[in-house]
Amino acid sequence: MSHEELLAGRTAHMESNAIREILKVTAQPGVISLAGGIPAPESFPVDAIARFTSVILQRYGGRAFQYDLTEGFRPLREALVPFLARKGVKTSPDGVLVTSGSQGALDALGKILVSRGDRVAVEAPTYLGALSAFNPYGPEYVELATDEEGVIPESLEERLNEAPVKLIYLVPTFQNPSGRTLSLERRAKIADIIIRHNALVIEDDPYNDLRYRGEALPALHSWAPDNIIYLGTFSKIFAPGVRVGFAVAPATISRWMVLAKQGTDLHTGTFNQALCAEYLQSGEVDRQIPRVVELYRPRFHAMLRALEEHFPPWVHWSNPDGGMFVWAESSLELDLLDIYHRAVSRNVAYVPGTFFYATPGTHLNTMRLNFTMPDEQHIARAVATLAEVLLEAGEGAKIGQGL
Ligand code: PMP
Repeated sequence: MSHEELLAGRTAHMESNAIREILKVTAQPGVISLAGGIPAPESFPVDAIARFTSVILQRYGGRAFQYDLTEGFRPLREALVPFLARKGVKTSPDGVLVTSGSQGALDALGKILVSRGDRVAVEAPTYLGALSAFNPYGPEYVELATDEEGVIPESLEERLNEAPVKLIYLVPTFQNPSGRTLSLERRAKIADIIIRHNALVIEDDPYNDLRYRGEALPALHSWAPDNIIYLGTFSKIFAPGVRVGFAVAPATISRWMVLAKQGTDLHTGTFNQALCAEYLQSGEVDRQIPRVVELYRPRFHAMLRALEEHFPPWVHWSNPDGGMFVWAESSLELDLLDIYHRAVSRNVAYVPGTFFYATPGTHLNTMRLNFTMPDEQHIARAVATLAEVLLEAGEGAKIGQGL
């Protein structure tokens, strides 16, 4: 019996994750991976987690392991209110929905909002996991132009003027994959546009606290709370394996997200939510974030230094102030998906940038480089080797027209 014929129509849109396949080789011994999109495990506050565990067992006993409300564990929802206020997101405990990672929120939003053919606007490039969450429902993606300051407001306005857009998905701060941040001026402009057009935006904000230089910017949500679903997560500042994220959404959207979540997992793990509540309430969060930032900052500088020193003049890269990634683009017409295999044979891996575009097979001249997993020495070595691979590939390649 062929099980293929049993699959629902929407399943055909869940393309096998090509990126997973090509990244498998990064686990081979000897490969320095600049391909990771994950936090450094040495950053996880293991001792604090042991302390929180005994506090939770004493305080809540079996309740920490019982079913709980879909909306989330009350002490966590309460503790998130002041944490969110610091980012400019004003809400109340009832306004917070706890999700299984921010990915859980993206999945619920795809489920409740996206119908076949709906226009969904995304940055070019955008976060691959958001595309995976929306793809099953068959949206028509509309790509928004970006530059060093993030989404170009005029590009958004044009797209909104040409035809209705159901949903806009943005990562305004230290974007995955580009590392870029929407400037303050542009935040105000984007907010004005979405309010005028009565548009709905997902502001996905997992990297906000990983700032290595410059001043924090208020969330886009602070300008337009009625138009924005704000998503946050404990993955980058605590531990991704606890799978706890949170959403602050307009009331109607939030209600439907709860119903969608009931069908997915009933609620996020109670014990893990209690760990996150304790992390916030104990004040450990204010000691841990600077520790993570200090762990990553030298790696961030090592990456920028190595690029400056080794990369050919025809490769340009983003200049982030935080997050986990640098984005590079070759102005020679190089196929960095193809060159990836050559880099891996020299023991260096990156993610070919083409995977981060809603239109498959485009922008082959781009790549994403991660600097949070390897240490400074490994970053320097990997970038030097990658530069050699690029120079070899670039020899004889023609200067791309207008790139
Ligand atoms: N959004 C973005 C932009 C991300 O980079 C990630 C993690 N790679 C996620 C959402 C999902 O994170 P989590 O589900 O662990 O909160």
